[in-house]
Amino acid sequence: MYESTRGNLSGQRASQAITLGMVPGGGLFVPSTFPALNWRDLQGLTYRDVAQKVMTPYLPEFPQEVLTDIVNIYEDGTFDGLNPAPLISVGGFGVLELWHGPTAAFKDMALQVLPDLLKVSLDQLELDTDVLILVATSGDTGKAALEGFKDRVGMNIVVFYPEGGVSAVQERQMTTTKGQNTHVVAVKGNFDQCQTAVKRVFAMDDLKAQLQEKRLIFSSANSINWGRLLPQIVYYYWAYLQAVEQGKVTPGSTMNVVVPTGNFGNLLAAYYAQRMGLPIGRLISAANKNNVLTDFFTTGVYQSQRPFFQTISPSMDILVSSNFERFLYEMSGRDAQKIQTWYDTMNQGTFEVDPATLKQCQATVYAGWSDEEETLETISRSYKAYQYVFDPHTAVGMKVYEDYLSTTNDQTFTVIASTASPFKFSSNVLQALEEAKHESLKDEWIALEDLTKLTGWDIPLGLQGLDQKPTKTVEVCEPEEIPEVLKKIFI
Ligand SMILES: *Cc1c(COP(=O)(O)O)cnc(C)c1O
Repeated sequence: MYESTRGNLSGQRASQAITLGMVPGGGLFVPSTFPALNWRDLQGLTYRDVAQKVMTPYLPEFPQEVLTDIVNIYEDGTFDGLNPAPLISVGGFGVLELWHGPTAAFKDMALQVLPDLLKVSLDQLELDTDVLILVATSGDTGKAALEGFKDRVGMNIVVFYPEGGVSAVQERQMTTTKGQNTHVVAVKGNFDQCQTAVKRVFAMDDLKAQLQEKRLIFSSANSINWGRLLPQIVYYYWAYLQAVEQGKVTPGSTMNVVVPTGNFGNLLAAYYAQRMGLPIGRLISAANKNNVLTDFFTTGVYQSQRPFFQTISPSMDILVSSNFERFLYEMSGRDAQKIQTWYDTMNQGTFEVDPATLKQCQATVYAGWSDEEETLETISRSYKAYQYVFDPHTAVGMKVYEDYLSTTNDQTFTVIASTASPFKFSSNVLQALEEAKHESLKDEWIALEDLTKLTGWDIPLGLQGLDQKPTKTVEVCEPEEIPEVLKKIFI
């Protein structure tokens, strides 16, 4: 059963949590208990079968044969190679490559299964309607969601991105998506304005009523949906199983995890795996210059009112980290009253937790950050040392791991979650590797080719020939015109 972090709803089934996305009236769905799962019982299984074992206890109303079909996505060629999340040995640590899906970022790991989880949830609830997924994106989520939902029967998706606010590769990835049910809209404004406008649409009762007449209900594919967190728990078990198999970890001893963090979904999934009994030692959170979380772990004050920086790791440019609420719920001893109070205060942009909660947070997570120069420098230095190329997000993780090592001298085997292929951010990666810090950036398409020449690595399939593919018509609108755009398409 699922309950709200703010105590305003409980006893909900998985299908309700997944269909609703977030708790009406505020709050996020969390499982009321964490089922225990011993990693030893998963030894020798394939990724697909591990996924089924991890997800089953959280989805009691999902028939097993249905779940078997859903997790098959990890083996049907959608992810390149036989292993959708390989653990690569680099230096003395491990890199868990989570970007072998169709869009070359880790969001595929969950967004390839979310549409099915949603479909089954709707069936379970006997809701005889189609869904309209609205997504606001600063880059990676948009394409991963489009790929996940394209051509799914009974599902439509519209992705809104800030015009001029995403990289050339990211924009092309989105506008070249096939599928009759996929739509892409450029919104005039920055990401915040775009996201705020989309959130407002979810609350428009007249529009909702008009869509309902067309048998359409809204749903969300962003990372507050439980259906996106659950598939992410799987790859931490998978990382541990590989570490044992590769002899990096003696069976039963702990492994540390470093996660490049924005909305805190990925790190939270690692924490949930730890709660289920996976021997994870330190959870290490790595932020970029938007280091609101690092400050929180030092002071206990969450201060979101601060300058916003556009960085070379744009998917982590986030000041209001939505899944952090779920983490605080656990750290406070599941005190829904406290969460409600803190997030009421958050309307003014800040809150402060009590000393006991802060202590618990600090005992669970080590938090660090990396500035822009350090990130570029880490890409270049790591390439020289290990001939391994980090994308800017993962490089933030690498830098924080180095800081952690020099502070603690902790020799525990550590895995860095690698969240994107370096090819997705070729210009910046190339800038780092060529140490041409003060020259202007190369054209993205030339940079892709140059990066492949320099490293000998293949360009991921999903990024090949992108500049040649036909693009769909992109509607451009002001934030307040979004409802009109939706009416034009669907009513
Ligand atoms: C979304 C994203 C992140 C941040 O993940 P969260 O779960 O939001 O913390 C990090 N790196 C990349 C490449 C991403 O796309």
